[in-house]
Amino acid sequence: MSKNSSRTAGRHFLQIPGPSPVPDRILRAMDRPIIDHRGPEFAALAKGVLEGIKTIFKTTNPVIIYTATGTGAWEAALVNTLAAGDKVLMVETGQFATLWKTMASNLGLKPEFIETDWRIGADPVAIEARLKDDKRHEIKAVCVLHNETSTGCLSPIKEIRAAIDKAAHPALFMVDTISSLASADYRHDEWGVDVTIGGAQKGLMLPPGMSFNAVSDKALAASKKATLPKSFWSWEDMLTMNKQGFFPYTPATQMIHGLAAAIEMLHEEGLDNVFARHDRLAEATRRAVRAWNLEIFCRDPKYYSPTITAVLLPEGYDADSVRILALDTFDISFGVSFARYAGRFFRIGHLGDTNDLTIIGALAGTEMALALAGIPHSKGGVQAAMDYITSMHARPVRAAAE
Ligand code: PLP
Repeated sequence: MSKNSSRTAGRHFLQIPGPSPVPDRILRAMDRPIIDHRGPEFAALAKGVLEGIKTIFKTTNPVIIYTATGTGAWEAALVNTLAAGDKVLMVETGQFATLWKTMASNLGLKPEFIETDWRIGADPVAIEARLKDDKRHEIKAVCVLHNETSTGCLSPIKEIRAAIDKAAHPALFMVDTISSLASADYRHDEWGVDVTIGGAQKGLMLPPGMSFNAVSDKALAASKKATLPKSFWSWEDMLTMNKQGFFPYTPATQMIHGLAAAIEMLHEEGLDNVFARHDRLAEATRRAVRAWNLEIFCRDPKYYSPTITAVLLPEGYDADSVRILALDTFDISFGVSFARYAGRFFRIGHLGDTNDLTIIGALAGTEMALALAGIPHSKGGVQAAMDYITSMHARPVRAAAE
């Protein structure tokens, strides 16, 4: 932005790993008069949304919708299923896994962490080994993040389910999909997840302030015996009221309108196409990083995230200065790095309502900011990304004579 101007032209490039940009169609869907949340119009809307959201989690069981950010849905998952003193097995994939573990402790649970250097996802082999050791079945839940937003590492949920089964362990399986839902393939029922936690502000392209628990029959059965205190988060009250299309308290009516539009848009594009688009943009971003001769923070391709790429800078260079300079100069926001890695990397979000040209623009902004910040790198990242995206769209060219 020019130093002598109070206006920035064009749209801000919101390349943080969520909240992601809200499409105009969703903004328009929300831009309408408030309706009675105990009236027939709302009941019809809510019933449609409560059914529609199941198709995004790929479940036929209920999905509970909270007027809360993702953190609330974390808490709901724990307090509805567990009792004080219960052991829960978690994996230290990064900052968000650490926050969830802190919450578990605060609630009176006994979390146990499988430690990592934050540069990989949750390893099914390590989970299986720990569960096999737990002969007395003291661990009551295994809690992992599908996508660790703070590092850009995706965990193999289907393999983790298989690991729990191989250990013949009865623990509940809880998965946080806050930065992967509606961006990466995810199957609540097929993969045998008991509670899936989701959030509105990433793949669902909504503003922050809504979150979800998709629940299995086993989780519902556990909720009948769970003794951690709960009130606002109670599944029971929600499920009873939801049957009529209502909520036990005033729901965020405008967010429900927005969610209806988001579900419609995701199905118009086709979920498989949505996932393929995210995979394409992620690979284009990784190719740019490699061409810059910089390091992708996720150190094992098995765990690459389709929604976030963290870019590690050489020792002695400050990633925050790149972010600040990029914002000041090109009006683009990147994600920060946390805790032991503070200032070591910045994160590029490529999720939600993002297309080929958005990511090329974002990568161009990144490449220019790297140059302005004096970060040692090679040129050609944007070119590498363009070449990859072009190749993914290439169609056979017909000979002129045909
Ligand atoms: N889990 C993950 C994976 C997240 O990315 C976030 C937020 O970005 C959270 C949990 C916490 O969600 P919220 O900030 O919406 O409370």
